[in-house]
Amino acid sequence: MSELYDIIVIGAGICGLAVASALAPDARVLVLEREPQPGYHATGRASAVMQFNEGTAAVRALTRASLDLLTEAGRELDGQTLMSPRALVRLARLDQLDQLHSFFREASPQALCRWLDTEEVMLWIPMLRPGYGAAGVLESEVRELDVALMQSHHLARLQAHGARLCCGGEVTAMARQGDTWQVTSEAGVFRAAVVVNAAGAWAGQIGAMASARPIGLTPRRRTSLAVAAPPGINAQSLPMVWDIDECFFIMPEKGRFKATTGEDMPCLPCDARPPPLEIAKGMDRLTAAFDLTVDQPDAAWAGLRTFAVDETPVCGFDPQAAGFFWLAGQGGTGLQTAPALSQIAADLILGRVRAGAGHAALPGLPLACLAPERLPV
Ligand SMILES: Cc1cc2nc3c(=O)[nH]c(=O)nc-3n(C[C@H](O)[C@H](O)[C@H](O)COP(=O)(O)OP(=O)(O)OC[C@H]3O[C@@H](n4cnc5c(N)ncnc54)[C@H](O)[C@@H]3O)c2cc1C
Repeated sequence: MSELYDIIVIGAGICGLAVASALAPDARVLVLEREPQPGYHATGRASAVMQFNEGTAAVRALTRASLDLLTEAGRELDGQTLMSPRALVRLARLDQLDQLHSFFREASPQALCRWLDTEEVMLWIPMLRPGYGAAGVLESEVRELDVALMQSHHLARLQAHGARLCCGGEVTAMARQGDTWQVTSEAGVFRAAVVVNAAGAWAGQIGAMASARPIGLTPRRRTSLAVAAPPGINAQSLPMVWDIDECFFIMPEKGRFKATTGEDMPCLPCDARPPPLEIAKGMDRLTAAFDLTVDQPDAAWAGLRTFAVDETPVCGFDPQAAGFFWLAGQGGTGLQTAPALSQIAADLILGRVRAGAGHAALPGLPLACLAPERLPV
């Protein structure tokens, strides 16, 4: 006999964990995760930054609401902080000044931006090679996110409300029987009225298993590097730096630097690995800009950011597969939007808000801008 739940969530990345923890007080919830532990894919490979100048209007609105929700969640955590402030400098060479000017003109007021001239750029980033940076834009309102703490906060809530997390439970088939989904997984067969598709890069495959309407998600690989700090440089005292054309990003982490190469390569869902050529390209870009004294990274890894065609997350019931809910396409902002998006998802699933309405976690925009039916087939 298969076990019966109210809701089955597929995927225990940040999005699956956050929605399960929002649902758990009001429903019997099962989370099925293929890997032996949660957060193994995109969630565990991210830069983990919250930026207000990032993404579409919907992403920015979700980010604003998530800041308040994370602040509130932090109060439950006995002095531990889910996020900490760190400045970010958008950097431009002489030939990139036009892009920097247009970024500055369009910047969100919430990011508290200020123009930096060449001298100020050198003061903020002392390891920058002289002559490299012509100007910068300083964003003061940026946060580093503690992903491990975000996940353990959700896991504790799941446990407190009696929800079940089943790792090693890859979903292999789904069938709708009457008003119930039968979900076959490596951990057994389970039933529930509602299935939430939070399978990250695999969300398209899970949708196909459920005969849901295709929504055209594309995973894109991004390679990251861990790089030693030059002698005499206190990495922790430095800001994050984004090249204005997003060709590299670097941030301090535990006394060294975490960097990304700006790679944006469409690929199939997989356990992504960093290509040697991309590692070499990344190190070239970093050593051209910074006086790093090393030409090899200490470590390299890659992750998939999965996008819908309009680069806005997908959150809503499928129009053709009854009881099948999409929570996918969070792209490069799934951590910073998870608090707001999971609240919206839980309210839609539990019928606390109508799909045609608005929601406090999406200020100024209708929920329809997240719905799967907005996307071309
Ligand atoms: C290099 C990089 C940098 C990033 N930087 C940031 C950042 O600074 N800020 C930010 O907000 N976001 C960032 N992101 C994006 C963020 O990491 C993602 O948007 C977010 O983690 C997506 O979470 P998810 O839960 O949807 O996906 P995932 O974390 O990938 O989780 C999906 C889960 O579903 C499971 N699954 C798949 N198929 C099945 C199946 N058949 N059965 C059971 N389980 C299944 C997978 O094993 C996986 O654990 C970055 C991403 C990358 C790659």
